[in-house]
Amino acid sequence: MNRAVAIDGPAASGKSTVAKRLADQLGLVMVNSGAMYRAVTWQVLQLGIAPEDTPAIISALEKMEIDAGQKDNRSTISINGQLLEEELRASEVNNAVSFVAAVPEVREKLVQLQRDYLEKNDVVMEGRDIGSVVFPDTPYKLYIDASEEVRRARRAADGEADAVAARDARDSNRKTAPLKISEGAIVIDSSDLGVEEVVQAAKEALLKLGWIG
Ligand code: C5P
Repeated sequence: MNRAVAIDGPAASGKSTVAKRLADQLGLVMVNSGAMYRAVTWQVLQLGIAPEDTPAIISALEKMEIDAGQKDNRSTISINGQLLEEELRASEVNNAVSFVAAVPEVREKLVQLQRDYLEKNDVVMEGRDIGSVVFPDTPYKLYIDASEEVRRARRAADGEADAVAARDARDSNRKTAPLKISEGAIVIDSSDLGVEEVVQAAKEALLKLGWIG
């Protein structure tokens, strides 16, 4: 049985950085589930669909060929044959993604693709509902938090326009799979920690949760 490390938390809390380091150090595949929601959002915007137009999103979704792949030990995402990378960080995508991610049909499709990764590999997956919905049975659940101030500053330092507070509010208040601390998760507050310290805390938390190897 392959094992899954679930990392959840709000926008810009440092989840991706920690997930990548853990993947490299523990020999796991790092899966960025947010990139999948961003990819569907990017395609929705390309088609000229408004992010609030749920029926149009659902009908566009049916025609999308979504390919969740892997390069080295990282997940990749392509839609209709196009590999999507930098475009996923565009401010238009930041502003629209939490509307598209609130559509249950979108979530259902992407959760299936997320679970498929575990068929072939041990994974560390980061997102909002990984411990609560995608892999509820995994014992290895982390929740990485940081103050809103720190998270806003991190995004600004990356040169990204991202209204993290608005996105978090939408992600936390939606009906389907809202962002929350799932039962059994160990919470790490990264506000005052450097990257290495957060990685260390994450590894210690995994040991506490029974991770060996
Ligand atoms: O992690 P990232 O900030 O790239 O995620 C972008 C958006 O995708 C989130 O704001 C959220 O709306 C959505 N998302 C989600 N569930 C996940 C991962 C991301 O709803 N597991």
